[in-house]
Amino acid sequence: MVTPSRIRLARERRALTLARLARMAGISQQSLSNYENAHAVPTPETLDRIAAALGFPPGFFTSEELEEVPSEAVAFRARTKTSMRKQKAVRSQAALAVELNDWLSERFALPEPSVPTYGRPSPEAAAEMVRSLWALGETAAPNMVHLLEAHGVRVFSLDTEHQEVDAFSFWRDAVPYVFLNTGKSGERGRFDAAHELGHLVMHGHERPLSGPEAEREANQFASAFLMPRADVVARMPAGPQVDQLLKAKGIWRVSAMALAHRLHDVELLTDWQYRAACRKLAEMGYRSAEPDGIRRETSQVLPKVFTLLRRQGHTPARVAEELRLPLSELNTLVFGLSLTSRSGAGRGAPGGQERPVLRVVPDPR
Ligand SMILES: [Zn+2]
Repeated sequence: MVTPSRIRLARERRALTLARLARMAGISQQSLSNYENAHAVPTPETLDRIAAALGFPPGFFTSEELEEVPSEAVAFRARTKTSMRKQKAVRSQAALAVELNDWLSERFALPEPSVPTYGRPSPEAAAEMVRSLWALGETAAPNMVHLLEAHGVRVFSLDTEHQEVDAFSFWRDAVPYVFLNTGKSGERGRFDAAHELGHLVMHGHERPLSGPEAEREANQFASAFLMPRADVVARMPAGPQVDQLLKAKGIWRVSAMALAHRLHDVELLTDWQYRAACRKLAEMGYRSAEPDGIRRETSQVLPKVFTLLRRQGHTPARVAEELRLPLSELNTLVFGLSLTSRSGAGRGAPGGQERPVLRVVPDPR
């Protein structure tokens, strides 16, 4: 039994057109289209050729129907700049992540989701409400990946092939997901995580999920979440010089540009001072990169999970096999956010029936 939608999903995951994949598999485009639309069933031999061209194990295509992540559900930054093919590649990765999450949830008691949704308040107010609900006080936000994970967000890493997608998020069966591009600077990663939290909290309920307004709101949320107004006003002088700014960005572990923006926001920089600071920072290379930046934040849950799995004899290769995924897919989802090594043999006997409970403690730094 072949599941037609899985052929399309794997093709979209590889960002291939029908014509291109048909050529690679040595079949006609019409036949391939018929297979994807369930008008015809490929022979086992043809399916093997399609699977080989896509780099997916043949078993992937005979597994049960996979729930797709609809485009309306996903908050993409700069949607207009992202080609449809890239969007589909990223969304199909999301569908695979949901599968992985379901598989993991059967084996581990992952943290319960506790992300609130607020339709009405301003981004600044929403950020303060989440901070207060999560008892973060008025100081710099902790490790954002750990924080999201501790509140039940499933955080995965994005394929670095799709650099123009910074991050995205969605809700699926009351579980929030965030995907981060691990190719960006550490500061950018924190901002992206907070931005996606903003989408999860504010959008797709009473407010539209995407568009320039949603993007602006998510940025405002991130800025307020990472740099609480009271803390910024208490610590920063009015009209700080660029060198003061560069020193201070470490307090909140944000980019120099993001701090300048926030200072303008809370009126510690005038319009003129803000523009001058941005010009100076751009000259110093702070627009496109973060010289002397912080290290990227990584997952706390995923290394724990894969360490425990290894103890039960589940190497990543075996996990991929059970999920009928290419190992590279699993690595892409997981290891960009984890420092666990990619290979090595599993050890120890399979575990008992009980699902280990994973505790995630957001560290204060
Ligand atoms: Zn966004």
